[in-house]
Amino acid sequence: MSLRDHTLLELRELLTSGACSATELTETYLAALASDDSNAVIAIHREQALAQAKAADANHAAGQAGPLNGLPIVHKDVFLTQDHISTAGSRMLENFVAPYNATVVERLAAAGAVTLGKANMDEFAMGSSNENSFFGPVANPWSPDRVPGGSSGGSAAAVSGGLAAAATGTDTGGSIRQPASFCGITGLKPTYGRIPRYGMIAFASSLDQAGSMTRDAKDAALMLAVMAGFDARDSTSARRHDPWLDEFLHNPVPAPAAPMTIGLPKEYFAGYTGTEIDALRAEFERAGHKFVEVSLPHTEAAIAAYYVIAGAEASTNLSRFDGVRYGHRCQDPTSLEDLYQRSRSEGFGSEVKRRILTGTYALSVGYYEAYYLKAQQIRRLIANDFSQAFETVDVLLTPTTPGVAFQRDELSQDPVAIYQQDVFTVPISLAGLPAMSIPCGLRDGLPIGAQLIAPSFCEDRILALACEYQGHSDWHRLQPATSHSE
Ligand code: GLN
Repeated sequence: MSLRDHTLLELRELLTSGACSATELTETYLAALASDDSNAVIAIHREQALAQAKAADANHAAGQAGPLNGLPIVHKDVFLTQDHISTAGSRMLENFVAPYNATVVERLAAAGAVTLGKANMDEFAMGSSNENSFFGPVANPWSPDRVPGGSSGGSAAAVSGGLAAAATGTDTGGSIRQPASFCGITGLKPTYGRIPRYGMIAFASSLDQAGSMTRDAKDAALMLAVMAGFDARDSTSARRHDPWLDEFLHNPVPAPAAPMTIGLPKEYFAGYTGTEIDALRAEFERAGHKFVEVSLPHTEAAIAAYYVIAGAEASTNLSRFDGVRYGHRCQDPTSLEDLYQRSRSEGFGSEVKRRILTGTYALSVGYYEAYYLKAQQIRRLIANDFSQAFETVDVLLTPTTPGVAFQRDELSQDPVAIYQQDVFTVPISLAGLPAMSIPCGLRDGLPIGAQLIAPSFCEDRILALACEYQGHSDWHRLQPATSHSE
């Protein structure tokens, strides 16, 4: 087994026992990144990574190892990394050097993690295939002509392809869970507000949430424990601390799940023809959990509401890119108007422009009530659906995605078809709930995930279930055939 096949926890053991050093581990990953052609990682922070590894080795020797000491990760390029270019996948920020670190970056580094570089992503996190990146598409390690999902496609492909032991991602409407499903890894989107957004380039601020892309659920628990917690620099950060998070820092193995009642929302299974969820259900039943059917009646309206709200918020968030303060500026502007117009026309890609146009439209006088207000009302109804369901069940189980990873260019000309890919993930985002995708099968040789959803701030429930399942199943251990495994 190569060093690049291990989970964070396994690597932590190897480092703790002295079987390898952080420097060796980092060099192994840097060598893999240097010869990689998947385009999953768009900037390699070689010198800084080696310096962080050296510091991790010194901390180990001094008995001061943090919970992620020496463990190599990549950050989605939506997180600001001080003194490094941070692009959000956009030409607009092609040369933007971040003046400070995102809270997430700060916390992971303080825990000892080594940052190898920055992962590719859909421009400003808008997309489901990574085809909207200014820096080009990413190959899915399971089949290079297929998309890795998006918008955290680079993060997912990097973990799946053995280019990083774990990665950060962000999820506004599914961008952690969907690429995790497409690449056969574990993706956790925590409760909205659980992990601070400070230093995370904004897409739709009432939905954006940072999270992890890892090989398994134990690693997800560990990453969550390091990243979670209040930060006064983010006004929507939750003042909430759960003692199990402290426990996960040292021992990220949630206690075996007590028998739970798991809800199957019938709207999510209406057209579902796969067998993977049935097999998963059988496993859960063997472990003593029981299933009931529930209804989330407003599910059908979720995509429309999401794309109105996310577009509206994007249109206001992206107004800061005016060519004046930072970001792309056009050559030789003839007037202020010309400066704004050409800088934005040149700096943004077509999907981002589509969101700005539809979002501005939905917020404009005369349309606000018909679109934005209506979407907000639907959002409330969807959140109520979930609250009602959680009166009778502990967690919910659904597919993560309607199908497996699609071919590159298969849907790129049809934005609505791409939006519809988010049917199972956006309702959860609108409700602000925690959810994770875990690998639960292969379809046509490609991975597919199941989604576990919990009430707000109950990530421990879905982590416990996922760990229990991964304790007696192997889907999360499968490696893509194109992988590095010797
Ligand atoms: N695919 C969705 C969108 O394009 C979700 C993106 C995300 O979660 N960042 O908006």
